[in-house]
Amino acid sequence: MSDSQRHDRVQTRAVHIRASVPEGSVPAAVPLYQTSLFTFEDLPTFADAWSKPDGAFTYSRFGNPTTKAFEDAVADLEGGSSAMATASGMGAVSTVLLSLLRTGDHVLAQRGLYGGVFTLLADLCERWGIEVTYLDAEDPAEVAAACRPTTRMLYLETIANPLGQVCDLPAFTSAAQRAGLITVVDNTFASPVLCHPLRHGADVVVHSTTKYIGGHSDVVGGIIVVKDQELASTLWRRGTELGACADPFAAWLSIRGLQTLPVRMRQHCANAEVVATRLTEHPKVARVYWPGLPDHPSHATARALLDGYGGVVAFDLHGGMEAARSFTSRIRLASLAPSLGGVGTTVLHPASISHSGMDPDALRAAGIDQGTVRVAVGLEHPEDLWSDLAQALD
Ligand SMILES: *Cc1c(COP(=O)(O)O)cnc(C)c1O
Repeated sequence: MSDSQRHDRVQTRAVHIRASVPEGSVPAAVPLYQTSLFTFEDLPTFADAWSKPDGAFTYSRFGNPTTKAFEDAVADLEGGSSAMATASGMGAVSTVLLSLLRTGDHVLAQRGLYGGVFTLLADLCERWGIEVTYLDAEDPAEVAAACRPTTRMLYLETIANPLGQVCDLPAFTSAAQRAGLITVVDNTFASPVLCHPLRHGADVVVHSTTKYIGGHSDVVGGIIVVKDQELASTLWRRGTELGACADPFAAWLSIRGLQTLPVRMRQHCANAEVVATRLTEHPKVARVYWPGLPDHPSHATARALLDGYGGVVAFDLHGGMEAARSFTSRIRLASLAPSLGGVGTTVLHPASISHSGMDPDALRAAGIDQGTVRVAVGLEHPEDLWSDLAQALD
C-alpha cells in the first residue's frame, strides 16, 4: 500500500498490518509463515501461480513456505525428490492408500502393522472393497505367491511395531517390482537416520513425524516422501483434495525436531541397547524383542540394512495380562502412554491399547502376547531408566 492510498481509520489500519521483509541479513531459523493465504499484485501473476503446483504460494492447503522447508529437508534426508507433509501419520497413510488404490484392488501387507493402519485397512476392505492379504514378510517369495491380477501394492514397515521385525527390504521391493506393485514403507521407527527405504527400492515412504522426527511430544504430523515425479504429483493432487496438509506451525516445530534427529536417534539406540540387554537377564522376563539383540529373528537383516537398531524394545512378561498390569502401574520415571519417539520414555501394553482393534487370533498371528509390553526408550540417563524399570519388575 503506498502512502497516497493510506487509510487512517483505526479499523482499516488494524487489519492491514504488513510484515517487513528483512534486507541485508537472513533469519537463522526458518520463519513461521502462519498464513492461510498469499496476496498478489495483479491477476495474471495470481492466475499463473494458481495453475502451477510449484508456482508461487497461493493457499496453505496447496503449499506454504514453512511447510515446504520441512518437506524439502525430509525429502533430502530420505533421498527422495519431493515430500508432502500431512496433519498426522495416519493422514500420510490414508492419503497414500486413498490416492493410489481403487475398489477391487488387492494389497499385500506385513503382519503386525501399526494398529491404526491395520484398522484402516480393515475399514477399506469392508467399505471400499479393497482386499488385503497379510504376509509374514520373512521370505520375499511370499510376494509372488500371494499376488493376484488385482494386486497393486506392497505395504511394509522398516522396523515393525512392537516386536521389531525387520524385513529384507531390497529383496521384498524387487519382488514387488517384478510383480508390478507399488511398495510403500512406513519408516517411522527407523527414521531417515537409520534407514533410507527409497534407496532400497521403495516407491513411497511414510512417517508419523509425531514420533522421532518431531521428537518432543509436542506435535502431531506425518509426511509422504517419493522419488518419482509422476507419483509425487498424483499424491500432491489427491492429498490436497483430501485436505491432508500439515499446519505451518506443526511443520515449524517439526523442523526444530529434525535438526537434532541424528543426535537424538544415536542416544535412543544406545539407551535401548542397555534396556534390552538388562531385560534379557531379568527372571520376570520371558522374551525380549529388539533387533539389536543377536538372537532376535531379524538381527542379521537389521545389521545389514540399518545404521542402528532403534529405540523401541518389547518384552513378554511371565504371567501375561496380570503381570503387565502390575508392571505398568509401578513405573515412575517412564510414563504409561501411547506414542513414542519423544525425549521421555513411554510404556505401552499393545494388547489393551495400540493393538486392541485386533481379535485374539490376529494378535497371536502378529506374535503379540497378553504379557507383551512395549518400552519406547527415551533420552534419560540409561541407569536411571533401568532402575525404574527394574523396581517395577521386582
Ligand atoms: C504413530 C504411528 C503411525 C500413525 O501416526 P499418527 O501421527 O499417530 O497419526 C503410523 N505408523 C507408525 C509406525 C506409527 O508409529
